[in-house]
Amino acid sequence: MQSAEPAKDYGKLQLFIDGKWVDSKTQDYRDAFNPATGEVIGKTPFSLPEEVVLAADSGARAFEKWRNVPIIERIKYLFKLKDTMERHIEELAAINTQNHGKTLDESRGDMRRAIENVEVAIGAAYVLAKGDALDQIAPGIDVTMTKEPLGVFTVVCPFNCPVMIPFWFLPYAIVLGDTLVVKPSDITPLPMQWVAKLVEKEVGLPPGVLNVVHGGKEVVEGLTTNPEVKGVTFVGSSPVAKYVYKLAGEHGKRAIANGGAKNCVVVMPDAELDTSMSNIVSSFFGNAGQRCLAGANLITIGSSHERTLQKFSSSVAGLKVGYGVEPGVQMGPLVSEKAKERVRGYIDSGIGEGARPVADGRSLRVAEHPNGFYLGPTILDGVTPDMKVSREEVFGPLASVIQTGNLDEAIEVINGSTAFGNMACIYTSSGRAAREFRMRADAGNIGINIGVAAPSAYYPFGGRRDSFYGVLHAQVDTVDFFTDKKISISKW
Ligand code: NAD
Repeated sequence: MQSAEPAKDYGKLQLFIDGKWVDSKTQDYRDAFNPATGEVIGKTPFSLPEEVVLAADSGARAFEKWRNVPIIERIKYLFKLKDTMERHIEELAAINTQNHGKTLDESRGDMRRAIENVEVAIGAAYVLAKGDALDQIAPGIDVTMTKEPLGVFTVVCPFNCPVMIPFWFLPYAIVLGDTLVVKPSDITPLPMQWVAKLVEKEVGLPPGVLNVVHGGKEVVEGLTTNPEVKGVTFVGSSPVAKYVYKLAGEHGKRAIANGGAKNCVVVMPDAELDTSMSNIVSSFFGNAGQRCLAGANLITIGSSHERTLQKFSSSVAGLKVGYGVEPGVQMGPLVSEKAKERVRGYIDSGIGEGARPVADGRSLRVAEHPNGFYLGPTILDGVTPDMKVSREEVFGPLASVIQTGNLDEAIEVINGSTAFGNMACIYTSSGRAAREFRMRADAGNIGINIGVAAPSAYYPFGGRRDSFYGVLHAQVDTVDFFTDKKISISKW
């Protein structure tokens, strides 16, 4: 089954600047891994400052022509992009799994949502790009409002959805007449690199409309402060999101900055667990918990605690952990050895503070892949809202179970104990409880009998509190981010 991999080793990654693939002149190449096997499968260049400038300049030059390409022509490029992604979906999913570790099905899901964003950008382009007009606003005076593209933007990506997340932004910017410099994650750069290769070969965008540079902090800083760059979209951890948002503001740039998460899943005593449990399990352990919409704290109410915990732990016990391209595997590894050690540290810390392991993934070994970065699904019971493990983002296959007395207490945990507000979910048969939860839980995305409340592309994707810095959100909301409104008043 490992033949699903497009290649075993992707070698030294190049930069894509002005329509050409170029070698970086940096000496600083870092290993890209297959986390399921522990093998090095590529080398990521940490680009030099002058290469960042070249990419921004290329985007700025391309913008002068691209903005004047009629929207009907720009849409045709997106149709080609959709067609290309559809035809290559299996190989894209495989490389996504190979570099990130999630299962093939999870990778296919990522690609589908990426394609869905292209579809929405195509479908919405005319409606969202057009302005409006009002004649005779005063005697002989008419007013029009048009939306204009602004120039070159930067898209900074996290490791966990290497293609889907850049596609929350890319198709909208391109169809609206802007140009881009994409900075993939330095941990999972391969899938977006593969997409860029396909775009070059099969979509034929004019040179400079899409540029890709690799690297880390310095490259992000270089792009965010570059005078040509009009704005930055960032998705990643909260401290970096906050930093990039501030840096962008200081340099007069627009910014959307999505941060981390600590999502709570509340199970009411009237929840229909027989039908919901697989959904709850997937919320916590899908993508090995490395999803900004993953469940992290499982909040039970009163006497239903034991019943919920028993069903939860017995459903988790059978999960097959391994390399996600292999049949039957339900959960992959952590993305890196460092991530694995970080999650293990949180498990130790929870137990140290008095939590009880009901499932303990720390000793899990995957015999076929002894060097992979695996941790088994872990459940800690007896977690309290003051423990570090229940307040901080873990981003791994760890469920902290917190018992509360009633819905009010559960909402207090959600709104009071963590600084994040990405998603909150409730499982219940009561419409009244669900309504109250929806109105009072302070999170950008609410799930009602849904454990991963991911908005489809035609809705904005954002969070609240430390999970988000900005005003406009990802996906379709970016239409207003990537354009500026111009008012023209005329008298004849
Ligand atoms: P990260 O913050 O470490 O890195 C994100 C990006 O920023 C990468 O491209 C990285 O190279 C760059 N970067 C790292 N340090 C930087 C610095 N000091 N200055 C400037 N740039 C820097 O995040 P990650 O580990 O790649 O991704 C996981 C995080 O992303 C989790 O916290 C997760 O919750 C979050 N996430 C959030 C959403 C959302 O929509 N809210 C979606 C997916 C992931």
